[in-house]
Amino acid sequence: MSMKPLIDPYLRRIAYVRVSVTDRCDFRCVYCMTEDMEFLPKAEVLTLEELDRLCTAFVRLGVRKLRLTGGEPLVRRNVMSLVRSLGRHLESGALDELTLTTNGSQLTKYAHDLRAAGVKRINVSLDTLDSRKFTAITRWGKLEKVMDGLEAAKDAGLEVKINTVALKGVNEDELDRLIAWCGEEGFDMTLIEVMPMGDIGGERRLDQYLPLSMVRGRLMEKWTLEESDYRTGGPARYFTVKETGRRLGFITPLTHNFCELCNRVRLTCTGMLYMCLGQEDSADLRAPLRASEDDDLLVEAIREAISRKPKGHDFFIDRRQGRPAVARHMNVTGG
Ligand code: SAM
Ligand code: SF4
Repeated sequence: MSMKPLIDPYLRRIAYVRVSVTDRCDFRCVYCMTEDMEFLPKAEVLTLEELDRLCTAFVRLGVRKLRLTGGEPLVRRNVMSLVRSLGRHLESGALDELTLTTNGSQLTKYAHDLRAAGVKRINVSLDTLDSRKFTAITRWGKLEKVMDGLEAAKDAGLEVKINTVALKGVNEDELDRLIAWCGEEGFDMTLIEVMPMGDIGGERRLDQYLPLSMVRGRLMEKWTLEESDYRTGGPARYFTVKETGRRLGFITPLTHNFCELCNRVRLTCTGMLYMCLGQEDSADLRAPLRASEDDDLLVEAIREAISRKPKGHDFFIDRRQGRPAVARHMNVTGG
């Protein structure tokens, strides 16, 4: 079976896979889930060994970066066995980076083990430094636990980037404080615009939506934002905050098109591959994975899927209905 790299029809080389290792979570963030979310039956979810086999197939096809996400990746039972196992690709040099996006609630338990397995950097999602607001946003979360987790991450030598979703009327007055705090703690930060994914019950997307173009204008009154040429192949545009020396990214999928350089695909915990976060098209990799012990069918299915990667997304918030543009929730593909 040929191990030629994965190149899509628009000549973008697929070098980055985000893997949702579980759709479950110990939080219920208002922009991500409803309070009474129904999760997948366990039988449908790939085992950790199957996830390892899938990720390894991608690495053999030239993928250089893996990000574990979810749901909350660190609530998956025994998740460290997957992280340790994937760490072997870092040691062999086949993989440049193994990382994860987490809500931080389990980091006191796992930070040191993650570092020992070869993880160097993590993204931690945090929208506020106010504990009451934190619980209002996450419904089930406790800020103190995340703060302890961040300390543990620093102590373990993990680099941290904070992901903050900009929410109209909720944390918009706190962004200056968050930037200053990230500067003090030595964290980079990325601001994310709310994306229209999944029905979130009573909360209306348009009520949450805060355009980052507006936020950036406001921040520039207080901070010196120097354009940076730092790129990850993703939808973020980065600046350096002169006063803190830290990087500040803006992810603006609704107001900006970021697709020409897209180098990534997303795998769900049931083995569905999404070629674009903003489109419904997907490919089932679980069937070819389970159909045979060698990877020929799987590799064929991956190549076929990549040949369908679309040129770009078409996110929009339906202004009349407030309906999501993409029906699945963010915890399915992990953002
Ligand atoms: N549970 C982990 C966490 O919160 O970091 C990983 C999964 S979470 C789905 C990944 C990222 O997506 C988080 O930074 C979260 O804030 C963001 N997110 C979730 N729903 C979103 C939405 N509708 N629009 C924009 N970002 C969203
Ligand atoms: Fe859980 Fe992350 Fe979604 Fe919040 S954003 S509910 S922490 S998956």
